[in-house]
Amino acid sequence: MFDNLSDKLDKALHVLKGHGQITEINVAETTKEVRRALLDADVNFKIAKEFTNRVKEKALGQNVLNTLQPSQLMVKIVKDELTQLMGGESEGIDLSGNPSVILMSGLQGSGKTTFSGKLANFLKTKKSKNPLLVACDVYRPAAIDQLHVVGEQINVPVFSDRENKDPVAIAKAGIAKAKAEGNNVVIIDTAGRLAVDEKMMNEISDIHKAIKPQETLFVVDSMTGQDAVNTAKAFNDLLNFDGVILTKLDGDTRGGAAISIKSVVNKPIKFIGTGEKMEAIDVFYPSRMADRILGMGDVVSLVERAQEQFDEEEARKIQKKIAKNKFGFDDFLGQIQQIKKMGNMKDLMGMIPGAGKALKGMDIDDDAFKHIEAIIYSMTPDERSNPSKLNASRKKRIAKGSGREVQEVNQLLKQFNQMSKMMKMMQGGGGKKMMQMMSG
Ligand code: GDP
Repeated sequence: MFDNLSDKLDKALHVLKGHGQITEINVAETTKEVRRALLDADVNFKIAKEFTNRVKEKALGQNVLNTLQPSQLMVKIVKDELTQLMGGESEGIDLSGNPSVILMSGLQGSGKTTFSGKLANFLKTKKSKNPLLVACDVYRPAAIDQLHVVGEQINVPVFSDRENKDPVAIAKAGIAKAKAEGNNVVIIDTAGRLAVDEKMMNEISDIHKAIKPQETLFVVDSMTGQDAVNTAKAFNDLLNFDGVILTKLDGDTRGGAAISIKSVVNKPIKFIGTGEKMEAIDVFYPSRMADRILGMGDVVSLVERAQEQFDEEEARKIQKKIAKNKFGFDDFLGQIQQIKKMGNMKDLMGMIPGAGKALKGMDIDDDAFKHIEAIIYSMTPDERSNPSKLNASRKKRIAKGSGREVQEVNQLLKQFNQMSKMMKMMQGGGGKKMMQMMSG
């Protein structure tokens, strides 16, 4: 996410490294570089200029505290300003209605249908809501099919009426159905065009007026940079929407839309889409995003994801096995599955401070564990539970079976043994022992 921008900002902010104090000259030099980085990321010119002016003003107005190096101070100022620019506090969505009606708007291909599904799934699994999806695209039968496919994937009902060509009537019928069936959230997916046109704008405006949704969300593809911002402005002038959804942040986006959109339409970004899967949705937190842009990682989100996947019962089982020296490769596989559930590896790595930079250019894909899994699957169940049985000839057989080198099998065994040893120490309250081991 935003690799290029992160890199350039990092360089800009290091102009001050080694300088003992902040001066008008070195601040001017830094902010010039910051502005260039923002412009390269497709941030609106006016916004970039105002941003760097504020940073400059703040930097020069500071008495450099003894504890902070000028470059650290600058990072802090830029981080605070970025957070402010992207919206300050994070804002949720209004779910107070019964049902709460959420209207999706945006261009075709922006990710409305996908996001409708993601949001329904999020509200169902995280907020214990009982949503209904409504298909209001009367032009493309395929769009209705797509919403039905999404609904099936996440096990959420979908209302559509292929005979009806009036989207307002369909939306109303959908809400009536939700009331009758006890769905407390209605998510209305609408038709989009490839560009802003009058007919589409009139149509979404008619639906909006007729159903008076609690939340009108504008979905936009973050890859489209300043175009995204212009489209947002057109939709906001018409609908006065409540929030923005930025999709496709997992792609090679420059970051301009994420940074500029809030200050152009003065509406918060509420969620981001980070992939095609139904789970690839995150609540947008301006401060966490600023951390990621500045390559400072996003440990909070990482820990949250780990907690979501954490299975207490499974953990207890594993602990017992470790205590009895019964931790085997099947358990190891189980641990790998849990990590994989946390999300795409590259995405996870990006959340670790500094890792983004260190891993740049490396090819980390979702299959990072593929080879390890292949090796383990080539072991017999008995070998998996009793790794000590793995002698040279067995290792050779496993290497052959998995299409890997014997060296890799050895490497995995070594890692496995180290991990088991470490876990055993942690268990025995052996924090001290572990420190000793790590220090020497
Ligand atoms: P709509 O026309 O606005 O309903 O857009 P769709 O929901 O059909 O999405 C258009 C394309 O973008 C589809 O191929 C989606 O799979 C893809 N897409 C949607 N959201 C994301 C996202 O967050 N990341 C990625 N990589 N692809 C996405």
